[in-house]
Amino acid sequence: MYDSIIIGKGPAGISTAIYISRSNLKCLVIGNDITALKSAKKIENYYGFEEPISGEELFKKGIEQAKKQGIEVKNEEVLDIEYGNDSYIVKTVNNTYKAKTIVLATGKSRKNANIIGEEEFIGKGISYCAICDGFFFKNKNIAVIGNGDYALHEARILHNVSDNVTIFTNGKPLKKTSNIEIKNVIEGRIDRIRGEKRVENILLEDKRSIPVDGIFIAQGTASSIDFAKKLGIIIKNNNIIVNENMETNVPGVYAAGDCTGGLLQISKAVYEGAKCGLSIAKKLKNI
Ligand SMILES: Cc1cc2nc3c(=O)[nH]c(=O)nc-3n(C[C@H](O)[C@H](O)[C@H](O)COP(=O)(O)OP(=O)(O)OC[C@H]3O[C@@H](n4cnc5c(N)ncnc54)[C@H](O)[C@@H]3O)c2cc1C
Repeated sequence: MYDSIIIGKGPAGISTAIYISRSNLKCLVIGNDITALKSAKKIENYYGFEEPISGEELFKKGIEQAKKQGIEVKNEEVLDIEYGNDSYIVKTVNNTYKAKTIVLATGKSRKNANIIGEEEFIGKGISYCAICDGFFFKNKNIAVIGNGDYALHEARILHNVSDNVTIFTNGKPLKKTSNIEIKNVIEGRIDRIRGEKRVENILLEDKRSIPVDGIFIAQGTASSIDFAKKLGIIIKNNNIIVNENMETNVPGVYAAGDCTGGLLQISKAVYEGAKCGLSIAKKLKNI
């Protein structure tokens, strides 16, 4: 059991881990390589670099710094976080880990499939969280839009409420590394989502109309907002709400960096990581 599992290995996650591990606590950082930093070609406003540094290089340097300090950093995609038996359980594509506390340092949430009709039917058949809303679609026709492990994971959860679950990859190939098997997969590109008052069908570009009662958007990887919704964390304007100690409203769950909103800059992510790490150390050591 880890004292803390930090999800995200960008500036916020690595900074949190450094402060936790230097407080003599055991932490694990889990992250994949999709980060805002990587798209920053030239960083000129962060302390300590007389020549511009690329985001990609800074990202790598952060991970190397953590590893050099003995911090365990795993390159995995997190699919789910659950609470059970006094600990948090973090599920990745192939593994399960346990910790006393969790830090969400997953960066800014993307949350849109950009499909015509999506905005219109949010809350009227369109959802972003299988575990939260799956029950409303018991024995109904359910669509999951996405083409990776996260979509498969959501589809598997939805299979608990209905046998009619179909993954729509929207023109992309199904990319999976997990062993989750889903029978119904439609790979055609989606033209639009249609309905009168609620979602009724998905129209494909090849003019096929597939009847559906509910649609779950699960594109890419699970985001901070997906995790937050599942854990019952308060979100406002797509940002996780934290107090001055970086604690969310759910005991033992913290957040830092872009996912808490405000200034979307490295300096703020590093600062919040430091604050978060120290706050966890104080809590676990009863200081
Ligand atoms: C084009 C561009 C240019 C920028 N230029 C600058 C600049 O010049 N100066 C500046 O200060 N800031 C700049 N920024 C902003 C800066 O990159 C971010 O503020 C900073 O990276 C936020 O750090 P973070 O740790 O909160 O999130 P991120 O750096 O986004 O890291 C998030 C981490 O979470 C991981 N993650 C997310 N979901 C999962 C999951 N389900 N499973 C596993 N891992 C997951 C990701 O893999 C990643 O490791 C720029 C951003 C962009 C997009």
